[in-house]
Amino acid sequence: MALDLSRLLAGLRSRSGLDRDRLEQRAALLEEEWQAFLAQHQIPPDYLNVWWDCPICCDSGWLRADEKCRCLVQEEVDHLYHQSGLPPELREQTFETFRIDLYPPAFRSFMEQVVAECKAFAARVASEQPTENLMFRGGVGLGKTFLSSAIAHSVLRSGRSVIYLTLPELLDRIRHYKFEAVDPHALALLREVDLLILDDLGGEKVSEFSVQELFALVNYRITHRLPMVVSTNLAWTDLEEAYTARIASRLMGSARVLKLDGDDIRLLLKRPRA
Ligand SMILES: [Zn+2]
Repeated sequence: MALDLSRLLAGLRSRSGLDRDRLEQRAALLEEEWQAFLAQHQIPPDYLNVWWDCPICCDSGWLRADEKCRCLVQEEVDHLYHQSGLPPELREQTFETFRIDLYPPAFRSFMEQVVAECKAFAARVASEQPTENLMFRGGVGLGKTFLSSAIAHSVLRSGRSVIYLTLPELLDRIRHYKFEAVDPHALALLREVDLLILDDLGGEKVSEFSVQELFALVNYRITHRLPMVVSTNLAWTDLEEAYTARIASRLMGSARVLKLDGDDIRLLLKRPRA
């Protein structure tokens, strides 16, 4: 057990009757006895040391009053990931792992632009700059979900909150928070999360309740300039038919639409790589 003698001695007045050398000898002797005691009882010499999970901030989470330690930032990001609802199978789908080379050569420069737009969007959300919403339109397997996921990762890593849901999941949550586990806080989170991603808005018939809830949510977020990413395989008229014209026009009117379309891309993507 090392004693920080120099600090102790700095404040020690001469009237204590002990001079510096004798105190140091005394401390060295005690330290020796202590180590001998530990050895005799086969106790590891560092037994009484304090072990911090994070030795940098001694688990306080802060380096200075206004500076968080990395461990706290990481903990917050982990919490945000947990809360986001991002499915485990999307954990690897990031901008870093996006493969432009899997697209046919004729579409690569277009896809590069799309990815650049997605990155710019994510950067604006991450830095709380105003941005229009993003809507992906196109068939299955063209990268809508991958790009939504990559945006989610990028925003989460910046320490902003993301909720990632399909429409049926979103409606289930609203119903649950409203009527079962009455939880206004969780309900408010859906409205106020930094980024809401609605994946794969499909053509299944939705109830009047769903239409009302979806409109209220979309309208709230647009009015409060809270960004959304929506992906759908529906054309404009199908979107109107499934979700009413007012939801369709609210969504489309506020969004930059990125169209990932064409059977030709899909066929080429499916072909095994040489
Ligand atoms: Zn720390």
